[in-house]
Amino acid sequence: MSRAKHFDAIVIGSGPGGEGAAMGLTKAGLNVAIIEKESSVGGGCTHWGTIPSKALRHAVSRIIEFNNNPLFCGNNTSLHSTFSNILGHAKTVIDKQTRLRQGFYDRNECTLLFGTARFIDTHSLEVTKSDGTIDTYTADKFVIATGSRPYRPADVDFNHPRIYDSDSILSLEHDPRHIIIYGAGVIGCEYASIFRGLDVKTDLINTRERLLAFLDNEMSDSLSYHFWNSGMMIRNDETYARLKAPKTASSSTSILVRKCARIACCTPTAERVTPMHLIWMPLDSSRILADSLKSTPTTKPILTMSMPSVM
Ligand SMILES: Cc1cc2nc3c(=O)[nH]c(=O)nc-3n(C[C@H](O)[C@H](O)[C@H](O)COP(=O)(O)OP(=O)(O)OC[C@H]3O[C@@H](n4cnc5c(N)ncnc54)[C@H](O)[C@@H]3O)c2cc1C
Repeated sequence: MSRAKHFDAIVIGSGPGGEGAAMGLTKAGLNVAIIEKESSVGGGCTHWGTIPSKALRHAVSRIIEFNNNPLFCGNNTSLHSTFSNILGHAKTVIDKQTRLRQGFYDRNECTLLFGTARFIDTHSLEVTKSDGTIDTYTADKFVIATGSRPYRPADVDFNHPRIYDSDSILSLEHDPRHIIIYGAGVIGCEYASIFRGLDVKTDLINTRERLLAFLDNEMSDSLSYHFWNSGMMIRNDETYARLKAPKTASSSTSILVRKCARIACCTPTAERVTPMHLIWMPLDSSRILADSLKSTPTTKPILTMSMPSVM
């Protein structure tokens, strides 16, 4: 049996946490490997978090600017784009970012391994590659930077064709006319502004009394004002009671929300046929730490890194 390749340190996960750790350790003269389970480096930040959402938001801002500028809309023309159209633009930004980050590892001679890492003992890892083959690596120290994933409550069916979370929304292929966003934290507000900017009827359900309550009141009020002004429906201080999601993709999905003793229904009326979509992203516990490293290492990692899910 061939001996497992040994490194001074192995970093698991190539998001901003893992990248920073790997670069720091490599520059300190250690022989470092970084393991990534996806097919390219960058982590959630590059592929399904910060970068895609900012690229989408930027594209929507440009569309709004174009539509409001008399220079371009002389003949009362207006530009209409869909979420999947602008997603194409986001992909080019993601590709650029991925190439840039890949260059960091190449330049610093940090070994890059693709596959899913799993501890088998205190100093050894198994890496399962996409073709199913398994390699073993050993190291003196480990950095676990496996990130987080969105919180999925057990009573919400995320396999439903009209229910998404903040990661899976990037797979939305059609053009929704109405969307409910449950959870008005930074990410919820960001996606609400993106969809509203694309002229999608948007309900934003906030479990707190005001938007982004950690901000100064003036800023929170200003955000609410601009959202209301754009035609968004903000439902502060409401929490979900029940979700109605018929299996047929053409049927409306509705959410029953509760406010103090009052029950309000943020749903289409019975006659309404517009299919509705729900993105689930509550502010609290919106992302939970990834538990992809099935066995718990008994060796102490140098540090465990997971950056907060909101800025
Ligand atoms: C929509 C959205 C918008 C955001 N906007 C911002 C923003 O504007 N500003 C900001 O600062 N933050 C923002 N964030 C948060 C930011 O993306 C995260 O805080 C950041 O990505 C966390 O970095 P990380 O390195 O801890 O984990 P991640 O970036 O999640 O990286 C973890 C990596 O580990 C890999 N991995 C997991 N398990 C294994 C395994 N067993 N083996 C091998 N690899 C594994 C994963 O594939 C992934 O590539 C946003 C997040 C979202 C979802």
